[in-house]
Amino acid sequence: MENRVFNFSAGPSMLPLSVLEKAQSELVSYPSCGMSVMEMSHRSQMFETILAKAKADLKDLMHIPDNYKILFLQGGGSTQFAMIPLNLMGKNKKADYVITGQWAKKAAEEAAKYGEVNVVASSEDSLYNHIPELDPATFSKDADYFYITLNNTVYGARYTELPDTGDVPLVGDMSSSILSEDIDVSKFGILYAGAQKNLGPAGVTVVIIREDLLGNHMDFTPTMLRYDIHAKNDSLYNTPPTYGIYFMGLVFEWVKAQGGVSAIQKINEEKAALLYDYLDSSKLFKGTVVEKDRSMMNAPFVLPTNELNKAFIQEATDAGLVNLKGHRIVGGMRASMYNAMPKEGVEKLVALMKDFEARNQ
Ligand SMILES: *Cc1c(COP(=O)(O)O)cnc(C)c1O
Repeated sequence: MENRVFNFSAGPSMLPLSVLEKAQSELVSYPSCGMSVMEMSHRSQMFETILAKAKADLKDLMHIPDNYKILFLQGGGSTQFAMIPLNLMGKNKKADYVITGQWAKKAAEEAAKYGEVNVVASSEDSLYNHIPELDPATFSKDADYFYITLNNTVYGARYTELPDTGDVPLVGDMSSSILSEDIDVSKFGILYAGAQKNLGPAGVTVVIIREDLLGNHMDFTPTMLRYDIHAKNDSLYNTPPTYGIYFMGLVFEWVKAQGGVSAIQKINEEKAALLYDYLDSSKLFKGTVVEKDRSMMNAPFVLPTNELNKAFIQEATDAGLVNLKGHRIVGGMRASMYNAMPKEGVEKLVALMKDFEARNQ
């Protein structure tokens, strides 16, 4: 595929070429069905097989324990900002939040509509360039849950250590880091991720929820926003995003073929090291995140002036390295290196940065 670029977009983002090609080959007629997955009834035997296979593969890949349900929902990551408080705040109407970026902040603001939100810590004052130290003495003992964003897509900081919340269920937004590194699911009450960063096309959201947390919703929770309803109906309460689930299933098969999450993690560590080692040695480019908290998925960096930022982004685009422009709040550049970004893409990026530095001393 000569005309494909290396797409460093933060999301929707690059998908594995072999997966796109497989979907293409099955687009018009799914094997022995004579119709596209898009045309299948969600109640058909064939689609139920696709759904069950996707669930089983994810369970396998993330070593999800038996007492968790896997749900495939709609509404993106952002709908979870409301679903989590609606479904978990039924008891004490109280939750702890750590604010490490815009997504965590939005989640906390949404939860505050339904109950008391205690902000345990925030890194907003330093433009979210690190994960704040957490002091368990400041955690609410009677919180219905404790909320974190595992990887901060916009600012590029990630948790390397999980807070110990005792009996309070830990809830994690993993939208931009799911399947990028091994994680102990049993430490969480809920883990969720929108698909469009590491899993597939936008439109499906994965929710992994511990069974004992089902049924704690507030009385007025809309039916479609109740986890217990979706769990009871195996994500088939209404028409789920069928094509998105099928496509995500292909991505799960691809991750398995790469050797699973640990093998992918190793490649992600290599990709991140390539970029960060160069950033650490460069006199011109600078990473913006505190070293110990740097994300493997989203790496923001800057040049000394806006003119240089612009010139670099243009050169990169001309070289087929696209969507490197930083988030409007941070400026500069952001390289998103999700699972589907080949190592070659990061090698090309670093080579261009070195060359750019040599020419702009
Ligand atoms: C992208 C993203 C979201 C929002 O996802 P939508 O599907 O656009 O609602 C939430 N949290 C994180 C960490 C994200 O990266």
